[in-house]
Amino acid sequence: MTERDQLHRFLFEHAAIRGELVHLDATWQAVLERHIYPSVVKTLLGEMLAASALLSATLKFSGRMIMQLQGSGPITLLVVECDHQRHMRAIAHWAGDLPEGDLAALAGDGRLVITIEQAGSERYQSIVALTGRCFADAMTDYLLRSVQLDTLLWLATDDHQAAGLLIQKLPDESGDSENWNRIQALTSTIRKNELLTLGAREILHRLYHEEDVRLFDAEPVAFRCSCSRERVSNMLRSLGENEVQDILSEQGSVEVACEFCNQKYSFDSVDAAGVFTTVPAHDPPERTQ
Ligand SMILES: [Zn+2]
Repeated sequence: MTERDQLHRFLFEHAAIRGELVHLDATWQAVLERHIYPSVVKTLLGEMLAASALLSATLKFSGRMIMQLQGSGPITLLVVECDHQRHMRAIAHWAGDLPEGDLAALAGDGRLVITIEQAGSERYQSIVALTGRCFADAMTDYLLRSVQLDTLLWLATDDHQAAGLLIQKLPDESGDSENWNRIQALTSTIRKNELLTLGAREILHRLYHEEDVRLFDAEPVAFRCSCSRERVSNMLRSLGENEVQDILSEQGSVEVACEFCNQKYSFDSVDAAGVFTTVPAHDPPERTQ
């Protein structure tokens, strides 16, 4: 049975450990259709997409989570966004030659920035230095430092799919690490090929057939860009009327393309006049008098 674009949660019944599996197909294809990426960038972005879906399911939020890898190497910026309905979009920026190598060779002294934006609530942001040889290592380190829970991830990607597996040790009064050590050892035997090609039940059976594991119903994941004409209008408002008038007199219209999905938005002088006379629907509170 194929399990396309799904996230599964699972729980070890007699151990304070939970897990998640994600498999992305059309979601990943939609990212790759919009831009051409060199293979090392593609691998890192696919792993980050899977990791972002997994992380979003460990957190409770209603809004969007933005994961950024800010690099000082050839890879300058990777962005993956995931909202609470698991609609995702992603983009990568790089410059110059891309070496085959570990995370440090690609991103230099980079950092991982994770922001959670929720309507009517403060923005939450955490920033950690990028560590480890691969993105799964960097995420493991991030989770240990930010949520202080032992979490391990396995990520795999190719030209068609991106997949990930996560296990997390839940707070437990017993202080016993025997279960965690055993589950960790079992999970470590997963191979990238299995993660990419097997369904959730097959993976759980393959790894944990002697354990008591509860698999929850699948949750769908999809590519969806959050850009809109209204958001572009807000951006033009923040740019200012004079700046927009300058562009109009030079170019006749203001053309804005969404870098995530390539959607183009065009504003002529009549549209632009409307932008500056209409009260925005979602004006930030500090600007509402
Ligand atoms: Zn877009």
